[in-house]
Amino acid sequence: MTAYLNGQFLPLADARISPLDRGFLFGDGAYEVIPVYSRHPFRIDEHLRRLQASLDGIQLSNPHSSEEWRAIILRLIADADFADQTVYIQITRGADSKRDQPFPKGVPPTVFLFTAPLLAPSAALRESGVAAITADDIRWGRCDLKTVALLANVLTRQSAVDAGCTEAIMLRDGFLTEGSASNIFCVRDGVILTPPKDHRMLPGITYDIVLELSAKHGAPHEVRPVSEAEVRTADELWMTSSTKEVLGITTLDRKPVGRGDYLGKPGPVTRRMHAWYSEFRDDVMRKACV
Ligand code: PLP
Repeated sequence: MTAYLNGQFLPLADARISPLDRGFLFGDGAYEVIPVYSRHPFRIDEHLRRLQASLDGIQLSNPHSSEEWRAIILRLIADADFADQTVYIQITRGADSKRDQPFPKGVPPTVFLFTAPLLAPSAALRESGVAAITADDIRWGRCDLKTVALLANVLTRQSAVDAGCTEAIMLRDGFLTEGSASNIFCVRDGVILTPPKDHRMLPGITYDIVLELSAKHGAPHEVRPVSEAEVRTADELWMTSSTKEVLGITTLDRKPVGRGDYLGKPGPVTRRMHAWYSEFRDDVMRKACV
């Protein structure tokens, strides 16, 4: 697999960074993940804008212009053996000669990218949906920044895995924030509900698409705070991310989600949203850079 490190394209296995890199020592860096369909990067401008917002949020100047990012990303995509990919981008505050918390002076950032095959959930998983637990949101106060300091997400996600689940739905002060690696939507009485973007959640690109598709197809939806009680008694739940797309959550804390024929199965609104998403992916994302 080809990677890019500080100006050089090289095999991923040959990429080396210093143990004094601040990403390694402090989690001092930002990242992005861009899904690529049939070699077309999806919403590259939006991802680069979110990267800029993350860099601004951690006061790290962007080492590249949009044109430079585009050139690096497109070359990695072209060189890969697979057509559907996820391009990972990471920028850290570089490697100083000592370990000290304040920003170092005159140290270049570390820029690392690699691309991997994009593996969407299988048809069987989509049909069964996945299990989730709820968890206290123990993260810091800037969850809108996509930083590499992901320890709280890692611990939360592991608690889901330990419980035999795929995702953890995080709650803060009695309200839904997001999943450990996804945004969360619920459906109540036919209305799609999801929290508004703020410092408590990552502004997901897939979240945007789902809201755009809801508007386009006239599906009732509300972007507003969603209480824990509303999550626990939802008719349907799903998560969104670039790699999971729209994936139903069919048990929560070991209890089946939903009611009637759809108890413990992806519900009708989840199925419709996934169908709209698939259509958009195949008819639009696969055909051009949009
Ligand atoms: N929230 C968190 C914490 C994430 O890590 C991710 C993606 O990895 C998302 C939400 C979804 O973002 P996107 O739809 O841009 O993949």
